[in-house]
Amino acid sequence: MSTSSPAINSLEQLQHACGSCQLCGLAASRTHVVVSRGNPEARLMLIGEGPGQMEDESGRPFVGRAGQLLDRILESVGLSSERDAYICNVVKCRPPGNRKPTKIEMAACKPWLEAQIRLVNPALIVVAGATAVEALLGIKGGITKLRGHWQERDGRRVLPVFHPSYLLRNRSSAEGSPTWHTRKDMQDVRTRLEQEGWQP
Ligand code: SF4
Repeated sequence: MSTSSPAINSLEQLQHACGSCQLCGLAASRTHVVVSRGNPEARLMLIGEGPGQMEDESGRPFVGRAGQLLDRILESVGLSSERDAYICNVVKCRPPGNRKPTKIEMAACKPWLEAQIRLVNPALIVVAGATAVEALLGIKGGITKLRGHWQERDGRRVLPVFHPSYLLRNRSSAEGSPTWHTRKDMQDVRTRLEQEGWQP
């Protein structure tokens, strides 16, 4: 399959198409295809790596402990994950054992992600974790160096941040900690959303 967006003209079509997708091996072990949650009208899109166990069971992205932490960080800067963001992942089916998705799996799923970006048309994209950053931006490197530095992709501003599951493994919120940096990054996102006309 090519890496361009498939002929999908609405998010409903996308949901339906992903629901029966067999384009990579992850289809074999999934419980649910995990396409999105949040607001399709939002100016902000959040992209993670892939579904975990809770997400696979519920069919919704970022609903486990990492997702709940993400929600709290967004709330701490006055943003709601359901109202102010559209949330999805690079791959829509859970990699067994929460391993990283392979390059082949990410490439197979990329057209669905491209369709989401095209249809939601966000002004800003936050991309969480090094794997998702590489998949979306083609930039390899440690997330510690990449995070907090805005990039551009097809005229949209894209901000790499730590993945919230990394924050769960590094619980300090002291100044200079990953959680502290992520709050600062999300504050920066809020400021840019305001510049885009977003209002609380
Ligand atoms: S991960 Fe993506 S490409 Fe693979 S089966 Fe699921 S929806 Fe299809």
